[in-house]
This record gives sequence, structure tokens and C-alpha cells, in this order.
Amino acid sequence: MALRAPVSRTSADIIVLGGGIIGGALAEELARAGRRVVLIERGRMGQEASTAAAGILSAAMDVPQPGPLFELCQLARRIYPQWIAHLEARSRLSLGFHVDGIVYLAMTAAQERAKADQVSWQRRRGLPIESWSPRRLRREEPAVDGPVRKAFFFANEAQVENVKLMEALAAACRAARVQVLEQTIARRLLVAHKAVRGVQTNHGRILAPVLINCLGSWAPWGGRSAVPLPVEPARGQMLAFRGPRRLFRHPVMAERGYVVQRRDGRLLVGSTVERVGYDKALTFEGLHAILTGVRHFTGALSQCTFLEAWTGLRPYSPDGLPILGRTALEGLYAATGHFRHGILLAPATARLMTELILHGRASVDLAPFSPSRFHQKGARH
Ligand SMILES: Cc1cc2nc3c(=O)[nH]c(=O)nc-3n(C[C@H](O)[C@H](O)[C@H](O)COP(=O)(O)OP(=O)(O)OC[C@H]3O[C@@H](n4cnc5c(N)ncnc54)[C@H](O)[C@@H]3O)c2cc1C
Repeated sequence: MALRAPVSRTSADIIVLGGGIIGGALAEELARAGRRVVLIERGRMGQEASTAAAGILSAAMDVPQPGPLFELCQLARRIYPQWIAHLEARSRLSLGFHVDGIVYLAMTAAQERAKADQVSWQRRRGLPIESWSPRRLRREEPAVDGPVRKAFFFANEAQVENVKLMEALAAACRAARVQVLEQTIARRLLVAHKAVRGVQTNHGRILAPVLINCLGSWAPWGGRSAVPLPVEPARGQMLAFRGPRRLFRHPVMAERGYVVQRRDGRLLVGSTVERVGYDKALTFEGLHAILTGVRHFTGALSQCTFLEAWTGLRPYSPDGLPILGRTALEGLYAATGHFRHGILLAPATARLMTELILHGRASVDLAPFSPSRFHQKGARH
């Protein structure tokens, strides 16, 4: 059982704010390294973006350019299997991690050219990516029957059942003796002599010399003393259907929509990317755009029954890169801004941030992700 108010311990080595996949993964890793960690979550762990996601682990298909994000995604993809094995052992849950690959559908000549360019540099990096003709596509993925010019199969990509993953992470946090305070709202940062001292919550004060902001879309938080983090929510609407099992053999992506099928037949269909602030409404326009986008490449949804729809807020940073590292305030760190890649990037974020906090530097250069990049003179995004 997660602990609830009243706060039973008022001091710790490290406070993690936010019980999404990023805060959960980081808190667990720090606790396994022997630190006394308190995790503060205003509702229940995983209640926001981390359970709204589709659970696609796209370390290449969804990364159009080489650079630090690509390298971080590749690191995450390499360590994912061992992270899943660890969480499955701790929780005794099966997390639906499957390396099914992802099929990308180019519907126009421009999409085909852009993806072919991306595929050529990613192949040079050694990634297994196949080009499929429309005929081959029909053989491999018979439910796709729209006007596709070319398909690219990214064989190394995977999927995970992210709702179960959050359940497992909550269990792993408890097993590692993270003090999980659910239903606890972080109200204000406590600062003295230009350094972090802790956090004021609705249930009292918690003191610690290190505090990590893992608040996802709510990262611009903390009152006057906090360092401003320029994160903005990007709403995503999603639908779920029940369909014949293995109707889709792989997750299938096009520019205007995607489908991902779980092994039990549940079919996730997404998604929008909308900058509408903290509004989590489902809208006619949003759902219509998703369904027409998907209908363009498959008529198979007519064999499926509707289950539910929901929205989530992706934490978006102005340059699209996560925000990872120390802030200008002593003791205050940030791990947020993971936008469309947070489920994938969680284990890499946890590993690198743990190295940085415990040893002063991470094994990967975190400079491109530094929170200070937005405050440097002449920074333009
Ligand atoms: C529709 C959709 C589909 C997606 N699909 C994928 C995908 O297929 N693959 C992928 O890798 N990523 C995907 N993502 C992105 C991914 O979900 C996010 O990047 C990731 O979940 C961010 O995790 P987080 O822990 O930073 O944020 P969150 O999960 O949002 O967690 C932040 C937590 O902070 C808590 N909080 C906020 N304010 C306070 C406060 N004052 N006090 C205490 N607690 C507070 C919230 O309650 C919340 O639980 C998708 C996102 C959406 C919305």
C-alpha cells in the first residue's frame, strides 16, 4: 500500500516530485542505490500521461534526425529489456513487452522521400529497417488496405503495456523502500541560502537537500523561488476498440494516425497533438481527425467494437528535447519534457539522472538537455 497523509517522515535524502513513469523510475533507481527517497504524487501514481500513452517504444521510426535525442532513445531501447525483466520480477506482472517492430506507411511522395532519407542514415547506424512494396505490405499486414505508396518496417521497435508498467513500477518503488506519498500535493519549494531545503505540501513540510522536478506537463511549478521550466502540455486524444486478435501484427503508423494492438485483441488508436493548455477534454474534431486518419489506410476498424476514449497531456519543451539535469538553484534538478517519448526514455532517464545526482556526472553528456539552455543569453527556440 502506498502511504497517504499525514506525512510520516519529514526528512529524506532526496525528494522526487511527480509519480509518473519518470518520477517512479528515478525514485526506484535512487532508492536501490541506498538513498532515502520520498516520492510525492498529488493523486495516484501514473494517473496522467504515463497511463494515457500507447506504449510504443519507437527509438528510430519517430526520431527523424540524428542527434542527442536519437542517441538517448537508442540507449533506452538497449536497456529496456533488462528494465522490464527487473520490474516483472519485482511485481510478478507480465508487462507485454514485445519486439514486434513498427510499420510506417508513406501515403504521399513527400512522405516517402522524407522517410527514405531518415531510413538511409539510420541503416548506416546499423538499424534493421526494411522497405516494403504495397504488395509485400498486403502480405505482411493484410488489414492495411489503403492507398500506400511504400512501407518501411523498423524491425527493432517494441511495445509495452504501459498501464501495467505503471502498476509494476509502483510495486517496485515500494519494494525498494521509496516512501510513496500519494494524494499529496507539492505546493511550494522551500529555499534557504540559495539552496533547496525541501517542499511544502498540503500535509506539511518535507525536508531534503535534493529535489527532482518530475512533474511532466506541470513542471512549471514551485512558486517564486523555483527555476522556471518552459514545459507546456500537448494534448493527445486516444480511442480503444476490441478487435479480432492479431488483426494487426505490428503497430502501424501513418502521419495522420496509428493503431497498436495488444495480445488480448485490444486495439489502441491515436492520436492528436494539440496545444490547448491544461484542457483534457475529448473533442469531436480530435476524435474525427484520428478516425479519418486511420480510415485512410485501413477499413478493418469496422470489424471492431468501441471500448473507450481518453486524453493525456504530453510534456512538451520548446525545442522538443527532454529537460534533464541540474538547475541554477543548488539541489534542484529537473527530469521532464519527454513529450512523445517518455515511456521509452524512462529507464535511460533514471539511469543518467541517478549517475548525475550521486556521482556528479552522467555517462552520457547531458549538456544538450540542460535546463539552463533556455536561460542562456541569446537562447532562441
Ligand atoms: C495520448 C498519448 C500517447 C502517448 N504515447 C506514447 C508512446 O506510445 N510512447 C512513449 O514513449 N510515450 C508516449 N507518450 C508520452 C508519454 O506518455 C510521456 O512522455 C510520459 O508519460 C511523461 O511522463 P512523466 O512522468 O514526465 O509525466 P506524467 O505521467 O504526466 O506524470 C507527472 C505526475 O506529476 C503529478 N503532479 C502534477 N502536479 C503535482 C503536484 N503539484 N504535486 C504532486 N504531484 C503532481 C501528476 O499527477 C502526474 O502523475 C504519449 C502521451 C500521450 C498523452
